[in-house]
Amino acid sequence: MNSAIHKTLHRCPWPLLASIATSSHCKCEAANLSCQKTIGRVYFTLAKYKMEGEGSSKKKIVNPKAIIHQRFGDKARYSVEEVQDSPANGCPGLAIPQKGPCSYRCSLELPEFTVVSDVLKRKKDAMQSAAEKALEQLSDPPVEDPSDQLVARLSYLFSNEFYSTCHPLSGHFRAALQRAGSLNGFVPISVMPIFDSKLSNLCKSIKPESESKPLEVMSIVMDAATRLSETVLISKEFISLKRTSPYPPEVIQSIEDCCDQETYVKVIRVPYMVEKVVELLTLDVSANKYYMDAIARELGAADASMVLLSRCIGKSSSETRLYFNAPISYQSDKEDFKDGSYLNARASYLSGQDIYGDAILATIGYTWKSSDLLHEDVSPRTYYRLLMNKVPTGIYKLSREAVLAAELPPKFGTRSNWRGLYPRDILCTFCRQHRLPEAVFSLIVTNDVPEETSRCEVKILSKGQDLILHYYPQQSFRKQSDAIQDASSRVVSWLNNYLRKLNMPREDLTIYGNGLDLDFYPEHISKEMKLFSLVHKNLLSINDTKQSTSVDMVPSYNIEGPASEVFASNGCVVCVSYSVFLVKEGEKEVLEKNDEFEFELGSEAVIPEFEVVVAQMGVGQSACFTVELPSQDLIFAANGDAARVLSLLSSGGCNLEYSTTLLRVTEPLEDRMEKAFFSPSLSKQRVNYAVQHIKESSATFLVDFGCGSGSLLDSLLDYPTSLEKIIGVDISVKALARAAKTLHSKLSNNSTNPVQTSGLNSALLLDGSITTFDSRLYDCDIGTCLEVIEHMYEDQATLFGNVVLSSFCPKILIVSTPNYEYNVILQKSTTQNQEEDEDQSSTKPCKFRNFDHKFEWTREQFQVWASDLAKTHNYSVEFSGVGGTEGVEPGFASQIAVFKRGFELPTGGDFAAVPYDVVWDWRSANM
Ligand code: SAH
Ligand code: MG
Repeated sequence: MNSAIHKTLHRCPWPLLASIATSSHCKCEAANLSCQKTIGRVYFTLAKYKMEGEGSSKKKIVNPKAIIHQRFGDKARYSVEEVQDSPANGCPGLAIPQKGPCSYRCSLELPEFTVVSDVLKRKKDAMQSAAEKALEQLSDPPVEDPSDQLVARLSYLFSNEFYSTCHPLSGHFRAALQRAGSLNGFVPISVMPIFDSKLSNLCKSIKPESESKPLEVMSIVMDAATRLSETVLISKEFISLKRTSPYPPEVIQSIEDCCDQETYVKVIRVPYMVEKVVELLTLDVSANKYYMDAIARELGAADASMVLLSRCIGKSSSETRLYFNAPISYQSDKEDFKDGSYLNARASYLSGQDIYGDAILATIGYTWKSSDLLHEDVSPRTYYRLLMNKVPTGIYKLSREAVLAAELPPKFGTRSNWRGLYPRDILCTFCRQHRLPEAVFSLIVTNDVPEETSRCEVKILSKGQDLILHYYPQQSFRKQSDAIQDASSRVVSWLNNYLRKLNMPREDLTIYGNGLDLDFYPEHISKEMKLFSLVHKNLLSINDTKQSTSVDMVPSYNIEGPASEVFASNGCVVCVSYSVFLVKEGEKEVLEKNDEFEFELGSEAVIPEFEVVVAQMGVGQSACFTVELPSQDLIFAANGDAARVLSLLSSGGCNLEYSTTLLRVTEPLEDRMEKAFFSPSLSKQRVNYAVQHIKESSATFLVDFGCGSGSLLDSLLDYPTSLEKIIGVDISVKALARAAKTLHSKLSNNSTNPVQTSGLNSALLLDGSITTFDSRLYDCDIGTCLEVIEHMYEDQATLFGNVVLSSFCPKILIVSTPNYEYNVILQKSTTQNQEEDEDQSSTKPCKFRNFDHKFEWTREQFQVWASDLAKTHNYSVEFSGVGGTEGVEPGFASQIAVFKRGFELPTGGDFAAVPYDVVWDWRSANM
């Protein structure tokens, strides 16, 4: 093997494996993770690499082939065959092309039997593998009949010894002795396999298909019990078992200090009729009663043996389960209870198993920790949160403890700005919640000179191993973990959208997937989701319908508190405190409250209204706003007094009121860099640069293309200039709103700084795209377009260049953009100081300065772009920059092109074109 390949192989899989293995939320087995290296056309998979790399040295100290030789000598016959590599993922039809060296399989013939090895890359390994398999078979103990083992286990469960253990099942045996009348001492068979995994595993090995069929498991246990007729009494009527002889008094005494203490626990009834709301009940589970009987009573069942238990819901350690009536085949006397007609969609959806009739959701049971009964109240909130935890947005909202404020961001920006569960963990939780196989992540690492980049492919399979979704990314990342999070984030957003529009026509879904490098097989997922729409109704989003129009939607709000200098712009991480109330005519119920809640502004990590308002606030200020009521499911999933919430809601006319305070703002990396490494800051230097040109040209009319939140316009007002008219244009309404606010406060205060603004008589902010002509911007003295083009795709940047020079025709145009070559310097200095931005490695989370950048150009790229434009449109162009020194490598931090018009404008232009919307229009009083 080529040594270069070997080196990269070593660097590739382990950090990833480590990062996946350490995640507490997802156990990705090595088998799920194949790592391919694409170097030339050779592919390797991690599984194979492991076998080659670790081989027989680490795990197996001895040499199996040598042992076989010792025992069998020439009687051991090896034969090795070549095999063509086949895909490792076991999904036919999905084969990733595998080329390269072929592999070997070895069969080993011994006097008694023959074994066949795994398929391995080297003959030697295949032979060792065969020998190892033979040894395993030779040393296997004779297999005991599982039916006998089951009888033995059952007999142990009825022993004195078991009675006093802390086993989750022994509590039932003890409680059974508290049961009244003829049921005294009887333990329902239904609880036995649920709480004793040894028992259920044995049942499974006796009859594998019984796994998801509680009734079959019970009949296997019943059969075993008939073989214990000496010690165990069977009640056919109650489907329960009881010890024939009483427990000796000392055994009973040893644990029986329980008094008559009264205990009540809150549980939830989940009616099978979806229209009925879930209902809070109180169960009497006092120490002298068997809790299963209390549940049976609520379900209208004769006794505990008629009640079945689901697997644990939510956290597996929670003991939160659904309890429900055994189906008709079991309860022969209830004719009206026909299988299928009373399917409890909500309970079945939550538990992933078929549940009929009403169900009880409760957190109760015996555990390994104590012989006392564990019980916790559940509430409608518990129920709604369990539901939320089945959809990606819900998983995210819960991870942030912000049901009414948070939204799952549509894309993964940077690790340093992400809050809450990571996309990969959301995806893993989603799969687990739907009992799907674990998501399969495959890293494709390309060894591009000079840097190595990764893409991450994701596959989601159905329970039946059919492909549901296949994401095959185009974009590469320098860090493997970023590739994984980005891929997961796209898959998770896609799933979210899919769930939101379950009845979207299939073609639309496919088209939508294609735009995202994603193949999707609706027929396979719809099976998994058949109950989804029945249950969720409109849980997914607070304002589903409003989302598409979120830009236009500015809620009414008022901001209070001392004026502040510190505002947040997109990319900043803000920290707020907030409370959400349900309000109706002066009545108020608090639903959700967070004292410190962080999110990245502009990343859509909170509901749109929240984002709009926070973008207008200064640090220390507070604001209040009201939104329309979200779905009831969400309201109940948040905190609050369920009864009061229900009564407020049912009387109608309620709103949600948010009140929030902006506590802190952390600027994005780019801004921090610009401030930290340049003095004056890079943005200040850009302003100074513009001012100098304004002075030199005695400009009176300035247009700022892509003015953002008005930093340039605002700063210009601090200098005495010849300017009379300024216009800013941008496509971000949010940014414009902020610009309007700061300019407004400055200009309305002009009595305090009359010198600076004396000449200015008009300021205008417009909403529109700078790639479209608007006559109000025609023929200005100076146009600025600072750090904007890199936020557009390259073709759009060129379109802007053409439109601005051919239609807007400024006398002077100043365009600035980052110099990519300067990034090494910035990144070197930031990685030393800003460790919080990085987790494991020293590479940057994003190769550009700001993740919204679509490109960053080298000096040459920028100069080619600008020179071509200038030539085409009869402008001259000169290059300069700020940050760094002229002529010193690697050039300026911000590179600047200054275009100058080389022709006289014809009189009159197209003054009809006024496509931009006026956001803010200020005229001086003396105009
Ligand atoms: N010039 C400002 C803002 C730079 S950030 C400053 O130096 O501070 C880039 C800005 O370009 C953003 O506000 C973004 O909304 C804006 N932008 C991107 N594409 C645009 C387009 N096609 N038309 C108008 N503005 C655009
Ligand atoms: Mg920028």
